[in-house]
Amino acid sequence: MLTRGHSWVNCSRDQGRGDSVTKLSTFAACLLALCLPLAAAAATRTLRVVGDNNYPPYLFIGPDGKPQGYAVDEWKLWESKTGIKVELTATNWADAQQRLRSGQADVIDMIFRTPERAATLDFTRPFATVTTGIYADRNLTGIADASGLRGFVVGVQRGDACVERLHRAGVSSLREYIGYSAIIDAARRGDIRIFCMDRSPAEYYLYRLHAQEDFVKAFDFYSDRFRRGVRKGDAATLALVDQGMARITPQERERLHDKWMGQGVDLTGYAQRFKAAASALALVGVLLLAWVYSLRRAVGKRTRDLRFLTQYDPLTSLPNRHLLLDRINHALGQPGIALSVLLIDLDNFKRINDRFGHPVADELLKQVADRLRALADPGDTVARLGGDDFVLTLRSVDVVQVTALAELARQAVARGLVIGGEEVFLSASVGVSLYPGDGETGVALLKNADTAMSRAKQNGRNAISFYRASQSAQASHFVTMGTAIRHALQRGEFELHYQPQHCLRSGRIMGVEALLRWRRGGELVSPCEFIPCAEELGLIEALGEWVLGTACQQLALWRAAGASTLRMAVNLSARQLASPGLVAAVQSALARAQLPGDLLELEITESALVGTEAEVVTTLEAIRALGVHIAIDDFGTGYSSLAYLRRLPVTVVKIDKSFLEGAPEDPAAAEVIGAIVAMAHALNLTVVAEGVETERQAALLGEIGCDLAQGWFYAPAMPPAQIADALIPSPPENKNAAARPRPHDGATGT
Ligand code: C2E
Ligand code: MG
Ligand code: MG
Repeated sequence: MLTRGHSWVNCSRDQGRGDSVTKLSTFAACLLALCLPLAAAAATRTLRVVGDNNYPPYLFIGPDGKPQGYAVDEWKLWESKTGIKVELTATNWADAQQRLRSGQADVIDMIFRTPERAATLDFTRPFATVTTGIYADRNLTGIADASGLRGFVVGVQRGDACVERLHRAGVSSLREYIGYSAIIDAARRGDIRIFCMDRSPAEYYLYRLHAQEDFVKAFDFYSDRFRRGVRKGDAATLALVDQGMARITPQERERLHDKWMGQGVDLTGYAQRFKAAASALALVGVLLLAWVYSLRRAVGKRTRDLRFLTQYDPLTSLPNRHLLLDRINHALGQPGIALSVLLIDLDNFKRINDRFGHPVADELLKQVADRLRALADPGDTVARLGGDDFVLTLRSVDVVQVTALAELARQAVARGLVIGGEEVFLSASVGVSLYPGDGETGVALLKNADTAMSRAKQNGRNAISFYRASQSAQASHFVTMGTAIRHALQRGEFELHYQPQHCLRSGRIMGVEALLRWRRGGELVSPCEFIPCAEELGLIEALGEWVLGTACQQLALWRAAGASTLRMAVNLSARQLASPGLVAAVQSALARAQLPGDLLELEITESALVGTEAEVVTTLEAIRALGVHIAIDDFGTGYSSLAYLRRLPVTVVKIDKSFLEGAPEDPAAAEVIGAIVAMAHALNLTVVAEGVETERQAALLGEIGCDLAQGWFYAPAMPPAQIADALIPSPPENKNAAARPRPHDGATGT
């Protein structure tokens, strides 16, 4: 019972009094107790708790005769949380219930709510789930549920919820004992062979009383939840108990649980060690992965390095012999392939090694490699075989093309190389083998190129030699020509001759065409012989610039002498047309000679315009923008396409001399010329006929309506001094001196 003198303790006891004042104060006290039971329950109060004294681990009598167990410690905590003293009485279960009912106790602990008890008691919230089992003699089998208990005497603890449950299950032969240990004692004596008991005390007592071998749990009878009970209607105590219990923290409960229900084996240390080990293992794993990754990268790099070393020359980074042979053999496998192999050996390189030492010589080799690399087309290979041997491949067997490349390679080596501030001059011997013809495999082609190279060395070095002698002869002519052109330019062996162009209506000379001549050892060489060679060897730009400059200067002189409207036609080659410096070269030639652009006419052969690139169109437009006229030379020998006549800024068409060959006898020739003239006029172009050799041809052209004509009928190409008289206007007294072929008639634009 809660301490006397405290209003809420008395509220149930005093409820029956008639005194209204007392009633009022009681009501107020009850209200306060219900609303604030903890606050109101002050330090002077005592809560009387009663429980089963043989219910380990919750409550049982220890060896010292004092109650102990989970409940004892729990109520001590409750006491400290609420400040209300607890008086815990551990007695047999029947007595415990009796005490509550009789008012000797306020609370009974560890009690199931059963319908029968609910009639007289109120219960707190549940706090633990307990399973109750039916235990039986080990030799008693076949008891699996409550129905199997019929006919047996079942031992029970007096007042236990089990009693009620068994009755409800139809088991009526029960023998009641004061406590659990008494039941087990009875069972051991053989008084009973079956008993009903909550699992925790059953296990505890069976073990403690050494009976665990003799009895087994037959089945779990039921599970229920422990609560705390108060007398019916004692809501204040109920709330007080619950609130006090709620103040016990989970950690405190855990400690209680560990103390009385046993602790799980403490694996904290192991777990920490395990964690540490796992972390270490993970770290090792990560490190291992990183190591494997870096190893793989290193192996990958090394593999690439090795692959590079097996395929490339480490000094120059050019493909080595192995890769070169691979590529050549691969190329030879393609149908219809034509391939040249050029082996370039530096002459007397040993001397360079001896003089400068290997590091310097290596530097030179690198520079040579760079220069050779610049010569190769994308599909071709530049390789280093080792030492001072390099190889160039070319997908062509055209002797002129191959020789041109060999010559470029030779020149690339021959250009001075600067090393350590000093200029060094090298030379190279080039041997060439061709496929098909000079070998069926890469190895054979290399071997034969080497043989050819040795021959070039025997011939005095700094030379090109083909494996087959006949090709060498062709090549040597070509190479000789290239060298000679260079020398001729330096020595001034080129000259321009001028062929007049006559107006077919008036007969007057309207312009001249500059035609290049090479005075070589006393005889004149035709441009047809050396222009293709100059183009292939990359000499045409220099030569072309010289022609342009010279022709403009000459025209300036004639203009100064009076031929003020004379027009100068200059031939351009296809290569010149593709040269990026052309427009600037034209501009500068005009400027230097102080000529207006429209006195200059540039002739481009029809074949040079086939498949005209966009850049060429741009170049021509830029030239035309200077006022310069553009003539299509040899019209009719190529595609005679109207398309480019319309697309390009052309102003003049020159009918090729071949059209005049049958004229005027052949009527078809006349018709074709007539058609060309008509077409050109329709496009507003001036028509010039070239190769006019006879008067009849000239007459026919006049009839057809052609504008201008040039040819031997009028005059061949002549040196400037010879033609000058025809161009410069004569003084008045000489005016009628001119005779056939009337070249003097139109010598000026006067
Ligand atoms: P082309 O521009 O068609 O020059 C006309 C060629 O016909 C010239 O030959 C000229 O001498 C020749 N000829 C002139 N009248 C007659 C004739 O009545 N009958 C015959 N059968 N031929 C005649 P050439 O001077 O030998 O020039 C040949 C070609 O060389 C030129 O043909 C031109 O394409 C090219 N050429 C000449 N000079 C240069 C130049 O300075 N630069 C460039 N790139 N090419 C040039
Ligand atoms: Mg021409
Ligand atoms: Mg021509």
